[in-house]
Amino acid sequence: MDCIFCKIIDGEIPSKKIYEDEFVYAFEDIERASPIHILIVPKKHFETILDIKEKDANLIGTVFMAANKIADKLNFGKKGFRIVTNCKGDGGQTVFHVHFHLLAGRKMLWPPG
Ligand code: 5GP
Ligand code: ZN
Repeated sequence: MDCIFCKIIDGEIPSKKIYEDEFVYAFEDIERASPIHILIVPKKHFETILDIKEKDANLIGTVFMAANKIADKLNFGKKGFRIVTNCKGDGGQTVFHVHFHLLAGRKMLWPPG
């Protein structure tokens, strides 16, 4: 499949791995939006979060547990962080393999742009 994140998960495209388990792969975003910017990506290909159905819903819990472990590993849990998922055009999604931005290392603004 011609999907950049599937290729990253398969190791066809190199990435800076931060965390991996049976269900998710996490790596540094190539274009940082904050000092720490990690993408947590389910290994199973879904185009958008709207394509995740009931039988795979527990995957979302796995993603957040991965974020929890990464916060511990990189020691930013105390200060805080943000998790963002963009969906389709209005959400600003550019890569159509579901992913969660884990942003940390600076104070985030609200509302987002
Ligand atoms: P989206 O805009 O879909 O929410 O997020 C896609 C993210 O993937 C962007 O932040 C972009 O910088 C990142 N990205 C796109 N291509 C690559 C790549 O080849 N390697 C890495 N590490 N990140 C990528
Ligand atoms: Zn994919």
